[in-house]
Amino acid sequence: MQAIQMARPEAGAAVLIENLEVPTPGPGEVRVRVQNTAICGTDRHIYHWDPSVASMITPPVTIGHEFCGHIDTLGDGVEGWNLEDYVSAEMHIVCGRCRSCQAGNKHICEKTQIAGLHRAGCFAEYVVVPAGNLVRLDPKIVPPHIGSFLDALGNAVHTVQSASSIAGRHVLVSGYGAIGAMAAAVVEFEGAKSLTITEVMPGHLERAKKWAAGLNGRIPVSIHDPATEGPDMVERIRQATRGGVDVVLEMSGAPPAILAGLEVLYPGGEMMQLGIPSASNLEIQNFAQEFIFKGLTWRGILGRRMFATWDEMLSLLQRGLDVEHIVTHRLPMSSFHDGMALLDRGEAHKVVLDPTA
Ligand SMILES: [Zn+2]
Ligand SMILES: [Zn+2]
Repeated sequence: MQAIQMARPEAGAAVLIENLEVPTPGPGEVRVRVQNTAICGTDRHIYHWDPSVASMITPPVTIGHEFCGHIDTLGDGVEGWNLEDYVSAEMHIVCGRCRSCQAGNKHICEKTQIAGLHRAGCFAEYVVVPAGNLVRLDPKIVPPHIGSFLDALGNAVHTVQSASSIAGRHVLVSGYGAIGAMAAAVVEFEGAKSLTITEVMPGHLERAKKWAAGLNGRIPVSIHDPATEGPDMVERIRQATRGGVDVVLEMSGAPPAILAGLEVLYPGGEMMQLGIPSASNLEIQNFAQEFIFKGLTWRGILGRRMFATWDEMLSLLQRGLDVEHIVTHRLPMSSFHDGMALLDRGEAHKVVLDPTA
C-alpha cells in the first residue's frame, strides 16, 4: 500500500512509500480502509522535526492521525463492529491502568501512545487501531471530508469547553490556523458576547475576515494582526471589551501571543493553552503582575476527552455547527508535500488527503 513515512530523524524527511505491507490487526484491533485523512499542525511539527515532538518519534514511521474510513478487517475478539462500518478513531492509545486513566482522564494518560507518532498512523491506505478507539460516524451528518479531521475538531471543542463558560463572555481566539478557525466557529455557536481573533499570517487573516463577514452580525467579531498593530493592540482589545477578555483560547503556541494573551485577560480570566511553542522554554515577563495578581487560570489542553468530547462534537455537527469553510484543499495523498507547503505558507486551513485517489 501507499503511505507517507517520516524516513529519517531530520526536518523534511517525509517520503511517499509505494509498497508498504498492509498491516494486520492483532487481537482487539481492526483495520480501517482510509477514505480521507487530514494534515494536522502536529504533522507540521513532525515534518519540521521540532524539538517539541522529535523525542517521541523513531523513524521510519507512518505519520498522520486524523482520518475516517470503513472497517476492512476485524481482529480476533472484536465485537460490536461490522465490516464496512463508517468510522473515525481516537488516535491517542491509552494504558487504562495509570492514575489518570483510572480517574476517567484518559486524554492525559501518562503512558499515551499516539498513532502517527509512536506507532503507525493513517497517512496510508490502511490503518490498524484498537477497536476501543473507534468512533462510529453517520454519513448523513459527517461527510468524509469533514470526518477526516474530527481529531482536530475535537481539540477545538475540548479547548472551548475547558473554559468554565463561553456564553455571554468576551472570548479571544489567539491564532486562526485550522484549529483556531474551528474554535472560533464553536465560540460563535455557543453564544459568546464578542469574539476577538488575533493572527499574523495574511492568508489566515483573509479567511478570518471572510468567515466573520458571513456571520451577518450574529456576534461582534474583531480581527487583529499583532505584527502590524504592535503594542497598541492589547489596549485596543481592552477598550473594546470593557477592560479585557474573559477567555483566551491560545492556539498558536507563539511566545508573543501567549504573553499578549495573559496581558489582555480581564482579572479572573482564563487562558486555555492548546498551542505548542516550538522551543522547549518560555520566558514570561512580569509574571506576578500579569498572572498571579490578576487571579488568572491557565490550563494546558491535550487531545480530547475520551469519549465525551467526541460525543459533544458529533452533537454540535448534528445541531448545525458549520465547519465546511475549514477545508480549503482536497488533494491525493501523493501530493502530501504540496499540502505541507500550502500550510507552511499559511495558504491553507485544512488540507484533506485522499489515499484512494
Ligand atoms: Zn492532530
Ligand atoms: Zn493511562
